Amino acid sequence: MLHQRSSALFAEAETVIPGGVNSPVRAFKAVGGTPVFIKKAKGAYLIDEDNNQYIDYINSWGPMILGHAYKPVVDAIIEKTKLGTSFGTPTEIETKIAQLAVSMVPNIDKIRFVNSGTEACMSAVRLARGYTGKDKIIKFAGCYHGHSDSFLIQAGSGAVTFGSPNSPGVTKGTAQDTLLARYNDISNVQDLIEANKGEIACIILEPVAGNMGCIPPKDDFLQKLRILCDANDILLVFDEVMTGFRLAKGGAQELYGVEADLVCFGKVIGGGLPVGAFAGRAEIMNHLAPLGPVYQAGTLSGNPLAMAAGLAMLTELNEDKDIYKRLAEKTAYLHKGMSEVLEKLKIEHTINRVGSMISVHFSETAVKDIETAATGNNDSFKAFFHGMLDEGVYIAPSAFETWFISDALSYEDLDKTIAACYKVCSLL
Ligand code: PMP
Repeated sequence: MLHQRSSALFAEAETVIPGGVNSPVRAFKAVGGTPVFIKKAKGAYLIDEDNNQYIDYINSWGPMILGHAYKPVVDAIIEKTKLGTSFGTPTEIETKIAQLAVSMVPNIDKIRFVNSGTEACMSAVRLARGYTGKDKIIKFAGCYHGHSDSFLIQAGSGAVTFGSPNSPGVTKGTAQDTLLARYNDISNVQDLIEANKGEIACIILEPVAGNMGCIPPKDDFLQKLRILCDANDILLVFDEVMTGFRLAKGGAQELYGVEADLVCFGKVIGGGLPVGAFAGRAEIMNHLAPLGPVYQAGTLSGNPLAMAAGLAMLTELNEDKDIYKRLAEKTAYLHKGMSEVLEKLKIEHTINRVGSMISVHFSETAVKDIETAATGNNDSFKAFFHGMLDEGVYIAPSAFETWFISDALSYEDLDKTIAACYKVCSLL
């Protein structure tokens, strides 16, 4: 597969954009080579600047649940654009999407829209601190909640990939208010709470981790966190930027039957436009300005184009009775196919899957936290990534990322992916 034009475009980008990219994980640093520049996408496929076609398992890092350029979403954006693109005033559509989101997600009365997942998580933590009057937070090593200072303490995603978990520029003062726990280790959380009695405002986590590959919560981990939070006046914050509206209509709260106090959403809620949101019970959300003292704002928050795209997307997800079943079945089919290939070829592996999130780790160790995720053979992953790319299958360029299944993927696409997996893994 030729990538001449992508290579030329990347060289040009590097002269004016740091690292040639506007978000680090796009740079292929973990896997080597130059990134592929995409010019368009439709359904399950991406087309690059050299006209190569790929089956897409990144789906814009999650939001394209219905596939790319989904007609109702595109039409909604076009129609809204004709009416003006931003007013900096309230608009009716903000209430419409808020009502729909509140009706789909359990346990939330009010929702505020922002412009990214980072903003959503950052704002939710500020609200948790303002509401509880406490400063410290607990986060889990390997979970990623965006690039706001409090979270860049052993973050997942690009921060792990590049081996720079504690970013320069984050002050010691900020870092000392973020306590780190091991994912899936409830006694570790208990110890941290004991050692910081009365000081912890919230525990934030990805209820299914996607930023160290896909890692499910084990052994009632979420239920036990809920109990610990209740016993210690700590708010439980679910970062559902990846899982929200993807694992179920009501996200991980619905799937696992655990109620969070605050829920963060991201890209899904904007149908691929730049959006985030955070939500919770009225009693907590009413602490936000202008009702309450916790300040949070945004010129483009609730932007009409993003709201139109999001409303079209959520409406489809709400009305399609079978979508979550279809997504889970497709993912299970891919899981089974790839497992058979890897077993036949006697390649050490662990495949984790929840709903439409799945990842392949080249390790036989059960992958349940960042340490076990790091046991994967990175050389195998690099060869796998480039081999799959050459076969026209686009997976995340890092072993520390989940893959996302879209409804646009056909069983033929899945069969092609499994065949590519066989061909590529035969050479590992
Ligand atoms: N939380 C999670 C779980 C994420 O996966 C991400 C980004 N992938 C974020 C927060 C940050 O979102 P954004 O990149 O939109 O700021």
